[in-house]
Amino acid sequence: MRYVFAPPPHPAVRIVGSTGWFPVHRIYCVGRNYADHAQEMGASGREPPFFFMKPADAILSVGEGETGVLRYPGLTRELHHEVELVVALREGGANLTPADAAGCIYGYAVGLDMTRRDLQSEAKKLGRPWCIAKGFDRSAPVGGITPAAWIEDISKTEITLDVNGVRRQQGRVADMIWKIPEIIAHLSAAWELKPGDLIFTGTPAGVAAVGLSDLMSANGTDLAELRVRVMRA
Ligand code: MN
Repeated sequence: MRYVFAPPPHPAVRIVGSTGWFPVHRIYCVGRNYADHAQEMGASGREPPFFFMKPADAILSVGEGETGVLRYPGLTRELHHEVELVVALREGGANLTPADAAGCIYGYAVGLDMTRRDLQSEAKKLGRPWCIAKGFDRSAPVGGITPAAWIEDISKTEITLDVNGVRRQQGRVADMIWKIPEIIAHLSAAWELKPGDLIFTGTPAGVAAVGLSDLMSANGTDLAELRVRVMRA
């Protein structure tokens, strides 16, 4: 195939303990997957999982020991952090069962589902799509991916987010409303999953705004730290 101009570089994420990169296909995100966050967003009970996407090139890959730079996006005065466990797939498929799911997983990382909350609130009110609130450039910072084989039991993982050294969010993977195999099964009923897909699995309570020069550090048990500083555009 001869392209009429050079295509942009393929989005990719660093891998812990490897010089290789994980090529990103799509970024799926789960809404309201922790009861305490669902409550703070005005929901109650176990609703079926719902999904949205970010463009693959919204990735901001931050390697171990690095501090990523997130330029404060335009059109918002309320840039929120949502710390999430990210599942990286090495295999896909359609209509997978929860039992099929484990074999699809390449590894795990900590990610931030950055959100223009004011635009999201407006979109909700008007019944409009969330793309502008969720899918802006660099809206998906993600730390290095740790291979699944290195992690004994992901359900024991705890994720946290500190801003300037102060704890803002804390959650346990065990407290997810929809577990990882169920999420993969649900997603694969709606889309054929592919190697390179990333799944942001939802955030615990404590979402809040960040401002210029704030330093976010996101962590997960046995996962690489993700450090991102918010800078002037
Ligand atoms: Mn989220």
